[in-house]
Amino acid sequence: MRRLWAPWRMAWIGAAKTPAGCVFCNARDNRDDRKDLVLERGEHAFLILNAFPYASGHLMAATARHGGGLREATAAEMAEVMALVQVGMRALSRAYRPDGFNVGVNEGRVAGAGVLDHLHVHVVPRWNGDTNFMPVLGEVRVLPEALDVTYDRLSAALDS
Ligand SMILES: [Zn+2]
Repeated sequence: MRRLWAPWRMAWIGAAKTPAGCVFCNARDNRDDRKDLVLERGEHAFLILNAFPYASGHLMAATARHGGGLREATAAEMAEVMALVQVGMRALSRAYRPDGFNVGVNEGRVAGAGVLDHLHVHVVPRWNGDTNFMPVLGEVRVLPEALDVTYDRLSAALDS
């Protein structure tokens, strides 16, 4: 397993130092969803594209509240995060026809988490023959699709 420099991780660690610089807080508070890559908003959580994805369509269901991970999440937050995981998987299935998914949580920097203060569940679509074995370990891929293209495809799939 190669261990590569991971710009997505560096950027997210840097952004998570204070709530003011927290990418999830910013995405929650801003209202330019296309710019912030927010696909769907709920009461306690939202669905957002990963700006530094492992694969096209890599998205995250994140809690709106700043402060804590899986251990600190409320039942309502857990329920909505997982409901958004389902919504995201269904949209990805319609838009990209993946053969499978990696769905998971990284907690703590040692485990690969870039943002420590919002529970967020990664959803990474997988295709037969893709070479991205265990992407949670930090492989960086060359992306075949620009983020705004992915955003538009998934937005359309969410509405369909
Ligand atoms: Zn935050």
